[in-house]
Amino acid sequence: MSRTTRKPRTKSRRTRSSRQGWLQGLARLALLASGLVLLIACVGLILSLPRLDAVVALAPTPTPTPTATKPMLRISPTPVFTPTPLPPLVALLAGHSGGDDPGAVCPDGLREVDITTDVTVRAKAILEARGYRVDILAEFDRRLDATKRDYAPHAFLAIHADSCVYYASGYKVARAAYSASPQEDDRLVRCVSSSYAAASQLPFHEGSITNDMKHYHGLMKIHPRAPGAIIELGFMGSDREVLVNQREQLALGIANGIERFLQGSPCK
Ligand SMILES: [Zn+2]
Repeated sequence: MSRTTRKPRTKSRRTRSSRQGWLQGLARLALLASGLVLLIACVGLILSLPRLDAVVALAPTPTPTPTATKPMLRISPTPVFTPTPLPPLVALLAGHSGGDDPGAVCPDGLREVDITTDVTVRAKAILEARGYRVDILAEFDRRLDATKRDYAPHAFLAIHADSCVYYASGYKVARAAYSASPQEDDRLVRCVSSSYAAASQLPFHEGSITNDMKHYHGLMKIHPRAPGAIIELGFMGSDREVLVNQREQLALGIANGIERFLQGSPCK
């Protein structure tokens, strides 16, 4: 009886020991797996750490401490005022304008004042287009004062036309009989005369420069040093065609002459 009861005991002992071995193997395997997981976690942690230089780069830039240095003495350059020089002033007196006296009048009604005014306005436009300043003066302009003589253009020209006759033809230019600067006045006369002759194709009418021209009131009223002259554009009888139909040419001749004078040409 006892043997038969021992045998199952042995068998159960064997079964128990094999179960224990299996459990131990499983525990070893679990231990190994957990170790592996721990190793992987450590490697991942190491790789995820930011590198040192990256940390330095991310650090805020230290603000420099302001040092108490002397402020820079800024010396601004001395402003140099160079005013743009005004262009030369030309004075053109339109003969007989601004009053009741129309000057010479032809039987058909052609009036000297209409010729002189038109030519003066055209000459002004030409000179202004070339950059000059131009004053148009009336015959007895308030700017001309014989007692003050303070009106001082760079060139003064009074513009008139001769009487309505047919026995004479041509233009003439003259300066004041008593001039403070006769050489400059003569140069102005030459410049205007030669340019006007070229533009108008009119002859110079010699021998008819009267005392009225040489003592023209306008020349006695401008500044004594201001260059001045007077022109008679032509005779309203003989030179009528030119005086009526070629006024732009006449104005061009006047403007050219004055410009040559202002540019310093000897006009010889
Ligand atoms: Zn006149």
